[in-house]
Amino acid sequence: MEAQKNLMKKKTSIILLSIYLLNISCNQKQKADTLFYNAKVYSVDSVNSTFTAFVVKEGKFLAIGDERELLSKYAVNEKIDVGWKFVYPGFNDAHAHFYGFGLYLQQVDLTKTKSWNEVIERCKLFYKNHPDLKCLTGRGWDQNDWEIKEFPANDELNKLFPNIAVMLKRVDGHAAIVNYFLLNKSGINKNTKISGGEIVLKNEIPTGVLIDNAFDIVKKYIPEISKEEKINALIEAEKNCFQNGLTSLCDAGLDRDMIELIDSLQRSGKLSMRIYAMINASENNINYYLKREPYKTDKLTVCSFKLYADGALGSRGACLLHPYSDKKNNYGFLLSDKEKLEKTVLQISQSKYQLCTHCIGDSANRLMLNLYAKYLKGKNKKRWRIEHAQVIDENDFKYFGAYNIIPSVQPTHATSDMKWAINRLGKERLKNAYAYKKLLDQNGWLPLGTDFPVESVNPFFTFYSSVSRKDENGLPQNGFQIENALTREETLRGMSIWPAKAAFEEKEKGSIEPGKFADFIILDVDLLKNEMTNIRNSKVKATYLNGILVYTN
Ligand SMILES: [Zn+2]
Repeated sequence: MEAQKNLMKKKTSIILLSIYLLNISCNQKQKADTLFYNAKVYSVDSVNSTFTAFVVKEGKFLAIGDERELLSKYAVNEKIDVGWKFVYPGFNDAHAHFYGFGLYLQQVDLTKTKSWNEVIERCKLFYKNHPDLKCLTGRGWDQNDWEIKEFPANDELNKLFPNIAVMLKRVDGHAAIVNYFLLNKSGINKNTKISGGEIVLKNEIPTGVLIDNAFDIVKKYIPEISKEEKINALIEAEKNCFQNGLTSLCDAGLDRDMIELIDSLQRSGKLSMRIYAMINASENNINYYLKREPYKTDKLTVCSFKLYADGALGSRGACLLHPYSDKKNNYGFLLSDKEKLEKTVLQISQSKYQLCTHCIGDSANRLMLNLYAKYLKGKNKKRWRIEHAQVIDENDFKYFGAYNIIPSVQPTHATSDMKWAINRLGKERLKNAYAYKKLLDQNGWLPLGTDFPVESVNPFFTFYSSVSRKDENGLPQNGFQIENALTREETLRGMSIWPAKAAFEEKEKGSIEPGKFADFIILDVDLLKNEMTNIRNSKVKATYLNGILVYTN
């Protein structure tokens, strides 16, 4: 009896002790917000670690590891089962036009329409979804794709949109159809004459089709973009970016008013995309910002200027060392003279700001590389960038490494341009164009972007183009100049940690590591292992920013 009592006492004290110990361990556990588990996480840290769970607290990654280990250390409010899907850092587009994309989304997409009727239908639907528009603009129609290959007339537009301006641009931007409202406002009638343009008539009546200089007359009657429309554009751009797994991007060229609008929207919580805003290097902007320190919040960094050296290859605006292969004696041109470019380089070299210059042609690249070299003087930590770095002379690659100049490139440009770039450049010169691997080798890292809306915002297209160097049809079979393909690992870095580095933000984002912003995406494809076509066609399952779900599919 006595022995039994003793045993009971012993048992009770053991139970009490265990409860006491459990309490201590619970109290010792650190509080956290969310545990994500059952995940295949690619951290993109310096050694490419992978793990299966992580903990988020106050918008940042707190710890990584496996479920049991993390639960033994952290008391979390919520557990999210990722269902063994793949987790990556949020994508970061190193060169895009976020606001431009927003504006682009405010226009009706008329590409690939099969008839004028379809154009009308798309306009109706768009207007239904955007009823506040004061002006309906569209782009991309081509009557050559229609059964009746003739310019349309605006009768139907006049009926549907009697009280707002409508302007629908043809695919080449050299013709547009406008409605009667706009014709009437701008005073265009059958007698209006315009040099370098045409007002198309049918039975002596303007049909609404205007060619080239003719739309200069109507342009001033198209209402200016209101603040509200700008805000809507930004919000819609953000929505599309989250859908595509982007949590950060660099907007390659904004003016002060837009930068301030973005900042105010982020501060009031209306916009949450993280933006590295390059300042357009206009005189006004330079004068304003150079008097001030670079600006930084969790969501916005303003510490760089965007300069343009030349134009684009397609329109022969890229400045080349030797004439275009398909146009005699044509070298393209610089967008401003050398002295003016050098003045800007000098000004910025004396400031805390980073310089980023758009260079497409080998002549523009050489000029800017030389100017950069002159003021950077040698190895440095300024991370000055060349945007696009599209055609580089064989002898000029070395400048990137010698002066730590960062090329910022867009893999989809290679696969979009490859069909005609050979005409512009010829075989020899083409070898050193879109030479991403060679550019990567100069500094050992290379930020990747898209230039959207010039190319699609879709990061999977970038991934696919970068690794396979093929178009959407899988051509060419061996890849375009495949020696310049990047590996999957390099491409993933180029879409996450390297754009962060190109923006001096690699300590706060770009990989899944404790202390960094909890910006990540969930995919059902393994970017490092799955078949490339599957990757190109895949869709983001979920996007998290600051540990908060901002998109789910
Ligand atoms: Zn651009």
